[in-house]
Order: sequence, then C-alpha cells, then structure tokens
Amino acid sequence: MSRLIVAIVIASLAVTSASPMVTAQVGQPDIIQEHWYHTYTTLTLDVNEWADNNPDIVKLLSVGQTELGRNLWMLQISDWSIETKLDGSDKEVVYIDGGHHGNEHLGTELAFLTAEYYIEGWANGEQDVIEVLTTTELHILIMLNADGNDFDTRWNVNQVDLNRNYDHYWNTCDSTQPGSSAFSESETLANSIYMNDVVPHADLYITMHTGVWIMLYPWGKWPEQPSDWEMYHSIRDDVNSNISEIPIRNANQGLYPNCGTSRDYGYGVMGYPTFTFETDDEQFLLGTVESLSDRLGEELDVMEYLIENVWYWRARLVIEDFEIRGNQLEAHVINLGHASTSNATFHYTNSNGELLWHSETFGVNATNESMIVLDSTNLSLVDNGIWSIHYQKRVIDSSKWVDELIDSSMIQIDSSSDSFLPAPSLLIQLMSLVSAAFVSRRKNTNNSEL
Ligand SMILES: [Zn+2]
Repeated sequence: MSRLIVAIVIASLAVTSASPMVTAQVGQPDIIQEHWYHTYTTLTLDVNEWADNNPDIVKLLSVGQTELGRNLWMLQISDWSIETKLDGSDKEVVYIDGGHHGNEHLGTELAFLTAEYYIEGWANGEQDVIEVLTTTELHILIMLNADGNDFDTRWNVNQVDLNRNYDHYWNTCDSTQPGSSAFSESETLANSIYMNDVVPHADLYITMHTGVWIMLYPWGKWPEQPSDWEMYHSIRDDVNSNISEIPIRNANQGLYPNCGTSRDYGYGVMGYPTFTFETDDEQFLLGTVESLSDRLGEELDVMEYLIENVWYWRARLVIEDFEIRGNQLEAHVINLGHASTSNATFHYTNSNGELLWHSETFGVNATNESMIVLDSTNLSLVDNGIWSIHYQKRVIDSSKWVDELIDSSMIQIDSSSDSFLPAPSLLIQLMSLVSAAFVSRRKNTNNSEL
C-alpha cells in the first residue's frame, strides 16, 4: 500500500501537462485534469487483471449495465478454496460500493484501494489479510455510475442523481433529480437486486462518496438517531479513540437532510449496518498530495477495522444456562455482539421441526448479559424436543432473523425447588476470551502506514 502511494506521489509531481491517456500500469490511480481516477476502460482492465492473476480469491462478475451499456463490475473476494469458515459456519459478508456520483472520483478510488489492499495483501502473505479472507466475503462494486464517471458529472446519463433514486422514502424530501420513480435507473436497480439476491445477510455495507471529511450513518431522512444507535455510537467512539478523528455522525444532522439514498435503503430496507464514507473535495488539488494520502490512509484504516470486526456488528446471543423450573423458564443470555436485539424468543419444536411453543419476547443490550425469566405455563415437554433461540440481528425492523440451536448440554429440566445457579466462573472466562479477541483483531488498525 505505501509503495502504491509513493508511486502516486511521484506520478503527481511529474505531471506538468497531464496526459489524457490513463494506463492500467503500476501507479494507479492517475491524474487527469487535476483529478485522480479510473476511467471505465482502465477499471475494466484492472479488475480483469486481478481476476486473471488471482483466481483463488477473486471472482469477477458483471451484475448489470449502466444506461449506456457499460458493465457493472462486481469483485467477490474471499478464499474460494473453502465455502465456509473452518468451523463450518457461514462466512461473514461485507458489501461495498463506490462511484454513485460520477464526479466524486476519490470515493471510487477508495473502493478500488480497498479491493487492492486485500488482493495484494493476500498475494504478499499478510497474516491479517489472510485471516479476513478465510472468514469473510468482500463484495465490491467499485464504479456504479460508469457513464457519469467518464463524463465527470454527478448524474447518470439520464441526468438522475443515483443516490436519491433508491426505494426508501423516495422523493419525500427536497431532492434534485431523483428520477421518474424509485429504481427508474438501471444502475440503482442492479445494485438493489444484488443486495437482495446475493448479499441479503451482509453485516456491513459501506458506500463511498466525496464532499466533506466525514463518515455518515443513518438516517439521512430523519434527524433522530437510528434504532441501532448503541452500535453506531460504540463504533464512533472506538474509531475516534484508536484510529482517526474523522467526524462520525448521522447523515441528516452531520451533512443535510436527504432521502432515497443507498445508505438509508441499506439500513432501512436491507437491515445492514451502513456507513457513507466521504472525503473532502479540495483534496483533489495537486498541492495537497500529502494530506490526501494521509486522509485516504486514515479512511482505509477505518475500513479495515470495520471489515476485520464485522463479526461484532450484530447481536450474537449465547445461552449460558437454560432451565425449566415449574412454570418458569430461566435463562442466562450473553450478547457477544455489539448490536442490541429487542425481539428475541425461545422456540420449542418437535423432531419434525414443528413449532410447539414459543416464549414471550425479550431484549438483550449490546455487549451485555441478562437473566431472562419467562412464563412457561403452557409448555408441554415432548421426547426429543428441540430448543432454539430466534432473534433479529439488530434492532432495526428490517434486520434479518436468525434461529440458533441451544446447546443441549445447557438445558436443565427441573421440577424440584432447587435454586437456579449460574456458572459465573465459566462466564467470566468466556467474556474475557472474547474481549481479548476483539482487541487483537483491531490492534493492527492503529498504525497509519500511508
Ligand atoms: Zn456523492
């Protein structure tokens, strides 16, 4: 990475009369007319080269076309020699897009640099990258508005603002050129189809723009904090304490009210934890090369932190003790994730999977634990009954549901009046293991290498 930036700096100092030709050689991104950016053609060359040279980790798909028929290139980056994590569980899923606005080239480049960081890191045997790619799928669409990119304009070819064209409170605010209807444009329609069909369970969505030096989380539509404010605030505090002082705010208050954006759609419809990364426009100027490198470097550090810790951006309920006693169900529930959940229930099914009983709902706060006591008056136990916990990954209504089996060794059925004794020593061990893992996952993000 630092090698690349050095190459950029040298290239920029060498430019006196900028050549209109951009090549796909070492030294990307190049500068044209005081901007550093890929054209659609050079991006096409680069992503194909990545896929050709790294078939073990890079899949390249065209997931649609722009209004003028340019391909929407999607990179799927993971260790494709294994379908799941080593323990058999599903890999984490991260979704990233860039280039909604064709004249915000640094946003597009940040998506490019993110893909490059993981592809080159894998090739160089970097341990933190290998750990991410064996446990995580990165889906990266670098340039959504390829037509606007090559015309150096905010709009697509129909003069629509693609980041006001999403089907979440579309055209319900003061919007400029949001299109004739939600998803009227082929670019946004393709993006939403990919979200719904391929990555509905993603636990992180980042969309790249430029404008001001800030990271934005939902909502753009409303000034209120989002339902998952605990998760967003803990990420904000962690990033600001350990990685970068970049402001992190909800979009409506941090920037200005907006609606029909991919960020609000990603959170409000898909239920993803979603961030807009912004880099300031004046960083395009040739005289601010150092600052640009530093700032892009800081944003990459934040990106790596969000990706490395994606496992934490949802509720992760673990049942430590589970006891049916008389007409009560008592459970010690730990949340290892950094998102709260508010609609959890215990399900009891027979061996055919038929639901026989479910508890009333309960909530568990982020990084918290609760002793849950529920009424179980109507519960009738059967042979080979199966207990599971059913809950939403985050508080937002649209977040996905998970159904996870409760380890049968935890379950005690007790009709006597013995008191319920949790196992504090086990719990403390488990909690400290988890916090140690979290610290070690993020420690590499603290040194700025760019
Ligand atoms: Zn933008």
